[in-house]
Amino acid sequence: MLTRPAVLLSMTLPALLLLAGPAPPPASPPPAPKSLILISLDTTRADHLHCYGYPLRTSPALDRLASEGIVFEKAFTQAVNTGPSHASLLTGLAPIAHGSRINGVPLNPEFVTLPILLAKSGYRTAAFVSGYTLLASQTGFNRGFEIYDDKFAGQDRRASETVDRAVAWLKTLPKDSSYFLFVHLFDPHGKYDPPEGFAEKFRVGKYEPISDPELIPDYQRLETPGGGFSKDPLDYVSRYDGEIAYADSQIARLLAEAGDKPTVVFTADHGETLVDRDYYFSHGSRMNEEALRVPLILRVPDRGLRGKRVTGMAQLVDVLPTVLTLLGQPLPPRLAGRNLLPYARLGAIPPGGVVLSEGHAAPMTVGGHHLVFPPRGLIFSARGDRFKLIGYPTTSGRIFELFDLEKDPGERTGVLGEEAARASPVYSALDLYLATGRAPEPPELDDETKKKLRSLGYVN
Ligand SMILES: [Zn+2]
Repeated sequence: MLTRPAVLLSMTLPALLLLAGPAPPPASPPPAPKSLILISLDTTRADHLHCYGYPLRTSPALDRLASEGIVFEKAFTQAVNTGPSHASLLTGLAPIAHGSRINGVPLNPEFVTLPILLAKSGYRTAAFVSGYTLLASQTGFNRGFEIYDDKFAGQDRRASETVDRAVAWLKTLPKDSSYFLFVHLFDPHGKYDPPEGFAEKFRVGKYEPISDPELIPDYQRLETPGGGFSKDPLDYVSRYDGEIAYADSQIARLLAEAGDKPTVVFTADHGETLVDRDYYFSHGSRMNEEALRVPLILRVPDRGLRGKRVTGMAQLVDVLPTVLTLLGQPLPPRLAGRNLLPYARLGAIPPGGVVLSEGHAAPMTVGGHHLVFPPRGLIFSARGDRFKLIGYPTTSGRIFELFDLEKDPGERTGVLGEEAARASPVYSALDLYLATGRAPEPPELDDETKKKLRSLGYVN
């Protein structure tokens, strides 16, 4: 009598398959964990990173990240102050919509943020911040984060301390976790005081003398051995560059620990005026390009998007819809920004958009007029491809200053007056923003761009 296995052995393979019934579908592997690291480097103007054209090598780790990812060549912030800018980054909303428009005014809990959305989808979440203006008590940004690490003595902490703690957290995660890690580094913010050896490499270049050294803010002044403070621009700029290079060395450590799997976003909350105008080594109350223009680098696992450089205007409110799309998450309604991935594939964001930004008003002289603002007043800018309009709501009425960035990229010869402002193509955007709290819709795409997007698989 044949035993059962012998019966089986005597059957042909097709018969065996019939016996077993239809083959089960191959087991699909569990979805790969999708993770996100968002790094913001405070006070970092785009044009002082080597990958954004700065001749000095301030940013080797970020240059590498740029070569592995997508560089948005012209990215702008929604606010030139730390709290409001990060609120826009984390909500995808304009400051006028989320209401956190002054440092120290926490985000209203009714607003949903990136960590809240990702935590709901099962992500592990942690934030490690480095400056007083991002304390949970100042911002309310801790909602949605399992850990919001903001415990440091004094006003800020160095990147090495913050990165040590972020790396330690990464090491605690099980291998198959999806996570969102937010790291904020503060070093390029004044006072410029990099660790030894970092400023010396950047004592290169010639600058116009500082016209009135008394305009250097007290907290930025570099004491000189004989008493008094330095009036040499190179002392300040080389230290600023040294701070960027030092932070870059710490970002290198963080990225080495994280490996190449997570999506990485690198940006800054705002830039800094150095010796560009008589608002030395400052930010917060001017809407010029060096303050508004920030780096924005996105590294995604898609190898087809390595080494891409994207022209046209991007903005911080675009980060949230872009990364949520990448992670396969639904988008919340009424976002001010848009998913940049289709444009990354095209290599260009089409012209016609307007970036709206805000700053804190402070007494200033514009075109020979001394401007005085109401308490906690704000200033505004609407930047188009060519024209930038700055609105100053003073105690004696609105004043506008218009720049033609094509003819006057350094913003030296602004035209004052409502008539010129009204005639500019960006006036209606600023007017709409101030009247309704909405940024204008991105412009309709032209037929050629639509066709290109369709050919890349983006049909809408
Ligand atoms: Zn800041």
